Amino acid sequence: MERLSVADRVQCVVVGAGVVGLAVARALALQGREVLVLEAEGAIGTQTSARSSEVVHSGLYYPTGSLKALLCVQGRALLYDYCRQRGIPHSRCGKLIVATSLRQADALRVLAAQGEANGVGDLQWLDGASARRLEPQLACHAALLSPSTGIVDSHALMLALQADLEQQGAMVVLRTRVERVARVRGMLRLHTQDGAQLETAWLVNAAGLDAVKLARHTEGLSAAFIPQAFYAKGNYFACGVRAPFSRLIYPLPEAAGLGVHLTLDLAGQARFGPDVQWVDDPSDLHVDARRARVFYGEVRRYWPGLPDGALLPAYAGMRPKIQGQGGPAADFAIQGPNVHGVPGLVNLLGIESPGLTSCLAIGAHVAGLLHGG
Ligand SMILES: Cc1cc2nc3c(=O)[nH]c(=O)nc-3n(C[C@H](O)[C@H](O)[C@H](O)COP(=O)(O)OP(=O)(O)OC[C@H]3O[C@@H](n4cnc5c(N)ncnc54)[C@H](O)[C@@H]3O)c2cc1C
Repeated sequence: MERLSVADRVQCVVVGAGVVGLAVARALALQGREVLVLEAEGAIGTQTSARSSEVVHSGLYYPTGSLKALLCVQGRALLYDYCRQRGIPHSRCGKLIVATSLRQADALRVLAAQGEANGVGDLQWLDGASARRLEPQLACHAALLSPSTGIVDSHALMLALQADLEQQGAMVVLRTRVERVARVRGMLRLHTQDGAQLETAWLVNAAGLDAVKLARHTEGLSAAFIPQAFYAKGNYFACGVRAPFSRLIYPLPEAAGLGVHLTLDLAGQARFGPDVQWVDDPSDLHVDARRARVFYGEVRRYWPGLPDGALLPAYAGMRPKIQGQGGPAADFAIQGPNVHGVPGLVNLLGIESPGLTSCLAIGAHVAGLLHGG
């Protein structure tokens, strides 16, 4: 990599080459902007974007009118089109959200109504027998079928986004951690960990788990727009036997996550998770095998046939939360100059799920903020 010097200036900088930073950079590059993506690690997409369930969500979980709801529904349509155009492996396999008691069925109806209000037009209510005709091993009282939910190869997606932005003349610079942002003569001056400096007119902070920290080190940004960062680990267990399901199976969502669900990868291999474990250290990605005990209980509510010994500790991902344990679920915080008053700055904070599904819509949204500015 060429070393950055104080003379370096670029029109737009995106900090972070996760799926969201790459999608934003691609959108800006397609507008004809000069774009540099600065990434702290030695490769793209090694952080949260490498540790998700790779599910293309339909958009039913989020409060109507929220950014999560709007960008997920838009993003899902954009993502399926993009995957088709670019030959990115994906499958619109569908999912069942299950109610395992009469009481849960009431909560599921509320979720179904919210999904419809959010524009998820294809949800189907199934009684237990109809659900078992689709998935014979399933135990449930009722289920909601979401045919437009699917799975995507997130690494292939990120490579395609990188190829697109590079084709437009933009560049990803690896091993470059931005430490702080100063304001100099109407520009934003970035200081990197190795002492280099770079000036830009537009800065998009897509630093994922570190986005709040970078916001804290941005000169002139009022503390009123810097939430506290919290971290909720999501542990996964692989399924050591072939699971007898062809759709994703989800229980009802919990306060901070979607419940221990069964997802499939593109080879049809099942995994369970993520659960929710609030932690202080975002680098703590160890999966404690003892958590399997709770997983067995949760999964057997909808798959009583899960054999003993089938669950194997797999991996964990870290949710970049901007609300603490027990607090109300926060929306994506996408804050441009119209919100915080710092010219040229867009902060993307709390971009947890459905950030993967929404990435192309977030890209378009941020490009719109820049265009407006
Ligand atoms: C357990 C789990 C499961 C999930 N499942 C799904 C799912 O099924 N479907 C879905 O839609 N969403 C899902 N999500 C959400 C989705 O994975 C994230 O919203 C998305 O990956 C966030 O991408 P990002 O680019 O914002 O962050 P990241 O992928 O974390 O990228 C941020 C990048 O910024 C870099 N960086 C950080 N600080 C600096 C700095 N100072 N200077 C330079 N670079 C820096 C990092 O190295 C990193 O590469 C899940 C999330 C988790 C945790």
